[in-house]
This record gives sequence, C-alpha cells and structure tokens, in this order.
Amino acid sequence: MHCPFCGDEETKVTDSRLMNEGEQVRRRRECLKCKERFTTVESALLSMPRVIKRDGSRTPFVEEKIRAGFLKALEKRPVSMERVEQAIRQLCHKLRASGEREVSSALIGDMVMQELLALDEVAYVRFASVYRSFEDLDAFKQEIQNLKQTSG
Ligand SMILES: [Zn+2]
Repeated sequence: MHCPFCGDEETKVTDSRLMNEGEQVRRRRECLKCKERFTTVESALLSMPRVIKRDGSRTPFVEEKIRAGFLKALEKRPVSMERVEQAIRQLCHKLRASGEREVSSALIGDMVMQELLALDEVAYVRFASVYRSFEDLDAFKQEIQNLKQTSG
C-alpha cells in the first residue's frame, strides 16, 4: 500500500505477526522514501452483522456489550475467563459465518442464552430472567428443558 505520510508507493514490510489466533496479521511497514513507519492490520472481510433493535433501529455489533452481559450473568460464578472468551468467540464466529447482514437483538440474546446454558445454569437463569420476562416459573422451567434438549 501507499505510504500514508508522503504517498509513495514503495513501502517495505519490516515485521509481520499473527494476532487473534491467526485471524489477523499485523505488519510493520517502512516507507522507502520518507522513512516513516506505520502499522497495518489485515483481516478477512467477514464483518459482523448489524443489530436490529426492538424499536427497529440499527446499531453496530459491539463485542464488548456481549462480554459485559456474560460477565454480569457470571458474577461470582466458578467459570474461568478462558471459557467465557471461548463462548464469546464461538458466538461471534456463528454470527459471522451466518453471512447475515443484519440480525435482531433478540436472536443475539438467544445465542447468549445458549452459550450461558452450556457454561453455567445459574448464570443462564440470571440472564434469562432479566432478558426475558417469563410469565411464570413453569414457563421458565419448560424453557430450560427445551434448551437442554436442543443444545444437548
Ligand atoms: Zn513516505
């Protein structure tokens, strides 16, 4: 690529390393003309779908919000950060792989619930009780049963 400082076409890669488990490559480059150095990050163009909120508005997908949801539900639960990150990666992977350009926030909520159910039932119940207003306890128990069957 062209040098962002002087626009010259000749830039040299001085260092190259993989990031995010090989999903991105970060390159240090140096302009042969002005000698400025800069970094580029290359990743496959598999963008996250945009999120359709309940009111119909669209917002960008923010992984940090998903993480916050997980951590709130998992507060003081015996689940390692490693497993949480794995669940988040899994969820993001599914979303990217879906190829959808837009997904509803409700669908993402359901995906979070699926992942939480696999991680920790208490966390699942916490998240679900906030996220979904179950009419009564029986409806809630039924939902857990259904999810267990489909995710098993
Ligand atoms: Zn330059």
